[in-house]
Amino acid sequence: MRVLKFGGTSVGSADAFGQVARIVASARQQDREVIVVTSAMSGVTDILINAAKAAAAGDRRPYREARDELMAKHQMVAGQLVNDGVERAALGRLFESRLAAFERLCRSVEVLGELTARGLDVISGTGERLAAPLLAAVLRANGVAAEWVDASEIIVTSNHFGSADPIMEPTARHAKSRLSPLLQGGVVPVVTGFVGATEEGISTTLGRGGSDYSAAILGAALDANEVQIWTDVNGIMTADPRIVPTARTIPEISYIEAAELAFYGAKVLHPKTILPAVERGIALRVLNTFEPNHPGTSIVKEPKPSKDVAKAISVIKGLTMVTVEGRGMLGVPGIAARTFAAVARAGANVLMISQSSSEQSISFVIRESERDAVVAQLQGEMARELASQHIDQVRPLDGIVIVAIVGAAMKGTPGIAARIFGALGEAEINVIAIAQGSSECNISLVIARGDADEAVRKIHDAFRLSEANGEG
Ligand code: ASP
Ligand code: MG
Repeated sequence: MRVLKFGGTSVGSADAFGQVARIVASARQQDREVIVVTSAMSGVTDILINAAKAAAAGDRRPYREARDELMAKHQMVAGQLVNDGVERAALGRLFESRLAAFERLCRSVEVLGELTARGLDVISGTGERLAAPLLAAVLRANGVAAEWVDASEIIVTSNHFGSADPIMEPTARHAKSRLSPLLQGGVVPVVTGFVGATEEGISTTLGRGGSDYSAAILGAALDANEVQIWTDVNGIMTADPRIVPTARTIPEISYIEAAELAFYGAKVLHPKTILPAVERGIALRVLNTFEPNHPGTSIVKEPKPSKDVAKAISVIKGLTMVTVEGRGMLGVPGIAARTFAAVARAGANVLMISQSSSEQSISFVIRESERDAVVAQLQGEMARELASQHIDQVRPLDGIVIVAIVGAAMKGTPGIAARIFGALGEAEINVIAIAQGSSECNISLVIARGDADEAVRKIHDAFRLSEANGEG
């Protein structure tokens, strides 16, 4: 059994839908049991969320326009690819009622003047609930027996709206009872990505980009042999090809490396996707819908040994580094604990931590959007130390990025840091902070946003990552 997940651009146009139909038909020839998971058409989730937010602010125009725009967008694909009149009419009615529900929801958001996380999850899942029935119809039009399934009937989650966590036991049960009969009957289930529901049946979402995660959850629930993530690039690359034109596809990468890369902003894979796959030892593959014969990247437990010690370089932008500093911190226990407790109270996620051994400062990196909340919490927490000048200041530094160099073979290989700093030194790029996880499979640097692209190119060169068998 294999699970094929198609991202937004893979279902972004009638041509793309046609391409997906060919890929599924060929998978179906190789494997009796194929499950498809689909994202919303590209751009749709953003339109839905923006319309809902505008509604909360009292603006009804965006949701009315969204309604018409989304109707036209989906009808256009149906018009081109679904020839059967009865099928097309049924789809049209389904789009109508889905979008009418979307409009009603936005209308109540507008009346209330408030958008709750729970309400937003219902609204933002609309895109997948339009795309899945459409894709199922396109598959049928191409001779592949298919039926769409709403993942809220299968994936049971926590009620952490906006990024709910799956509860595997009931999910596995539902997956079997809902999907196995279809599979046994030779039908390809086309499941909505991104969405789930609580035990009580309230709609949730798994977080932006969460359709990858949906596919891995279903794969784990049904013990699939492979989960394929179909996207618009040739797998996981050594760096963003828009920054490094000579970047190349990494043929094989470990779960740990892929997870580090996903965490550090390589947008090919939702970071949580790896987890269910690791637990079940399911192979993951990242493939290109628009170049289906390219082998892409395999994510496996133990990759074949490669000469590359550093495998890939990734960048996260839009960050702030916060430094808590003061001579009075020296040797005082509990400062770090209090600092991170305050950060947690602000609801912020820490991406990197660095402390000099002189203990006169702790620096950590968060998203720029969380800066004000974090600084306010810290100032409250440290009010006494700030007044007594044991702590001089809580200082945010905007306009920085994290550059992460990832590779499991960096562990125990001497000279890695020297190579990185040598390359950056030559280019006169200043490193603001550095951290190495004890996994040693990742070195992270904080540098100024303006230096980011050049730094990535220099490090990519230093490890000769453009060469197919670079000695790394
Ligand atoms: N459509 C959702 C999003 O844009 C989920 C996904 O594409 O994976 O976040
Ligand atoms: Mg995605």
